[in-house]
Amino acid sequence: MTAMNWSDDRVEQLKTLWTEGLSASQIARALGGVTRNAVIGKVHRLGLAGRASPSRSERPRLPMAPKVPSVRTQLPALPVVEEDPLTLDDGSHATVLTISDRMCRWPIGDPAASEFHFCGHNPKSGSPYCEAHARKAYQPQQARRAPDKKFG
Ligand SMILES: [Zn+2]
Repeated sequence: MTAMNWSDDRVEQLKTLWTEGLSASQIARALGGVTRNAVIGKVHRLGLAGRASPSRSERPRLPMAPKVPSVRTQLPALPVVEEDPLTLDDGSHATVLTISDRMCRWPIGDPAASEFHFCGHNPKSGSPYCEAHARKAYQPQQARRAPDKKFG
């Protein structure tokens, strides 16, 4: 049961904050003395529509046919030249344990398999990937679903 004190002032504040797009927990914090659930309950009772209900049912909605700037037209249509994965001094490849910020994080192989490793080459500045993999990463999904297939 909620024995919360919803004075007119607080209700107004709630409405304002809700309309401004704050989450229920943010509003609860701002008002003080109420729980997030109490805020949600009050919002429902007030019939404050016009917003998706918070948190639990909040899931990223697929944008409606987004106008994506055509990246492909901006990039030179060079073929992706992948180098063999970097081999470390001990003959192994870069793994989750040995990968560093200065190594390309392009995954090679099945993440569930023991031979799974990373490319490991010097990354392009501002990118987690080396030149070839950075370019590959911006290709359509289809092309990068199985990056290891090319080796096999
Ligand atoms: Zn790479």
